[in-house]
Amino acid sequence: AAGFDPERIRRDFPILQQEVNGHPLVYLDNAATTQKPEQVIDAISHYYRHDNANVHRGAHTLSDRSTLAFEQARETTARYINSPKSSQVIWVRGATEAINVVANSWGRSQLKPGDRILVSWLEHHSNIVPWQLIAAATGAEVVPVPVSGAGEIDLAALAELLDERVKLVAINHVSNALGTINPVTEITRMAHAAGARVMIDGAQAVAHLPVDVAAIGCDFYAFSGHKLFGPTGIGVLWGKEDVLEAMPPFLGGGEMIDTVSFSGSTWNTLPFKFEAGTPDIAGAIGLAAAIDYISGIDMAAAAAHELDLLQQSIELGAGIEGLKRIGSPAQSVGIYSFMIDGVHPSDLGMLLDQQGIAVRTGHHCTQPLMSHYGLPGTVRASYSLYNTAADVEQLFAGIRKAKRLFG
Ligand code: PMP
Repeated sequence: AAGFDPERIRRDFPILQQEVNGHPLVYLDNAATTQKPEQVIDAISHYYRHDNANVHRGAHTLSDRSTLAFEQARETTARYINSPKSSQVIWVRGATEAINVVANSWGRSQLKPGDRILVSWLEHHSNIVPWQLIAAATGAEVVPVPVSGAGEIDLAALAELLDERVKLVAINHVSNALGTINPVTEITRMAHAAGARVMIDGAQAVAHLPVDVAAIGCDFYAFSGHKLFGPTGIGVLWGKEDVLEAMPPFLGGGEMIDTVSFSGSTWNTLPFKFEAGTPDIAGAIGLAAAIDYISGIDMAAAAAHELDLLQQSIELGAGIEGLKRIGSPAQSVGIYSFMIDGVHPSDLGMLLDQQGIAVRTGHHCTQPLMSHYGLPGTVRASYSLYNTAADVEQLFAGIRKAKRLFG
């Protein structure tokens, strides 16, 4: 995209300046996790070198500093997703934990036999299995919403399924396997009109799209810091205030209580009611540093650049015999999923790795989606703002070389 310089951005990411197996690293596994800029690594290191103390307990200076940085990180994160209040941002380990909190708190207290939870065929296992577990515990039922061959949610089928039995619609904002951007605002409107709550799994959206939870109108939104150039171990459950207020705690322990006695305990206010125990303080600070970092980048230009890389992949892929792209969503991020006739995805992945090219192979934690396509898995190149046209050329040179080796 015009005016966007991925080479300049690359220089902020020390891990990218290395050789792997004798070749310059070509990192194309950004949907699994993104790399971290110097600014994030420094923020975490600075915290441990200067400010480390437990939060919210402190009658001392370090604890005050740590608490301030931790709560400022929450505010930075709240602004990033346009949360009306920072108390609606609950720190969790990642998208997986966020969804499990909702299943175990909201789900366990609200669901009863005969109720339905709709999930799409596009979902990551983390937006399927927690619902299956809570369905088994409550007598509710998980019902899949069909997707098309292109890898888009069938909205007509969703409309058909939305009856009074449906209590929740759980959908990802962006598919990790195919890159599909789902019309989450429209889906939320449809679900709400039918009286259902909406959980959006935003794990793959936050690094590519502007996310505005208020505009989407959903009840819950989940994401992981590590897919947004932040550290692992920190993520966000966002919820509507009245919905969160009405939910019972999930984990019990320190920090989440107001009073504790043997005749019963009472709960702390939001967000602390859902944050039992010592949180990942450095993780939250690292995530805020990542958000500060990207706020200095034209993210719309970055997204356009990633789509250029996808387009380049589609064109180069069309020139390779036996290569088939899986899914072709009209609205997508820069994810290119494919397979090659007669070559197992994991064998191709191994040969690419020998050339320093990192891709993901396998089912991408989306086994129902792979069964929809009748595939064991795919090879997935997922692009980020620091990838270049040269990276994509390397990938296809690598694929051609691998094909020759397979005869
Ligand atoms: N949902 C989607 C769409 C994902 O891509 C991922 C990560 N691959 C997750 C959920 C789970 O995220 P985490 O493992 O960070 O909890």
